[in-house]
Amino acid sequence: MKSSDRTSSERRAVGVTIEETPATLADAEKWRAQVDERKGAVALVSGGLDSATVLALARSTGIDCHALTVDYGQRHRVEIEAARRVAVQLGAASHRVVAVDLRVFGGSALTDDIAVPNPENADSIGETIPSTYVPARNTILLSLALAWAEVLDITDIYIGATARDFSGYPDCRPEFLRAFEHLANLATRAGTEKRRQFHVHAPLLNWTKDKIIRRGVELGVNFGITHSCYDPSAEGLACGLCDSCILRRRGFEAAGVDDPTGYAESE
Ligand SMILES: [Zn+2]
Repeated sequence: MKSSDRTSSERRAVGVTIEETPATLADAEKWRAQVDERKGAVALVSGGLDSATVLALARSTGIDCHALTVDYGQRHRVEIEAARRVAVQLGAASHRVVAVDLRVFGGSALTDDIAVPNPENADSIGETIPSTYVPARNTILLSLALAWAEVLDITDIYIGATARDFSGYPDCRPEFLRAFEHLANLATRAGTEKRRQFHVHAPLLNWTKDKIIRRGVELGVNFGITHSCYDPSAEGLACGLCDSCILRRRGFEAAGVDDPTGYAESE
């Protein structure tokens, strides 16, 4: 195996192949062939800025994108309306909202009667798994995306997982995403009878929040219609204090982009 091939397969393994700028003409041809053979993609869209950028990235490859949002009983339900706006703004071919009420189990500050933490020290975010972790959330979200993808005869799934500027969730790590990709090929009729290869694309995996924002702006994402806060006011305004607000706000600052977020209290 040539070293360039190895690099490519390693990139594929963490689901970041097609969104990278091709380094050579041969890479560009391979990239184009990969795009051409795809019938479309299912993109998980939460209503936040990461998944909006992922949808825009997927759309920029010219494929039809079917947006999937999961209403899991999250405290910040306002994000579901944000997801509807994002799917329309970015031209999703279709959008489905699936309800799976994880409040039945609770166990997270997002689905149970547990206060959303306000980190004292922003630099400590990601060091330990916080109470906003929702047990097995990305496994559940990806399973639903996989089910819909199989029905649509699609093998590409996009998720806005990021392992930098994130809250330290275990199901955002590349080894988890690789394992899910393996599972998808074993778990489905498409993967077994038809020998289709599912791919989980997490193009933001190694991106900082400011890079995500800058790229999103280039792709025409309207971040003003996205929602990130875990603990919004009754009016849907961001708290400015939770992990997600802090990472979002710092991202806009570092990107040099005006933060369009509506905050409950001006600080
Ligand atoms: Zn917040």
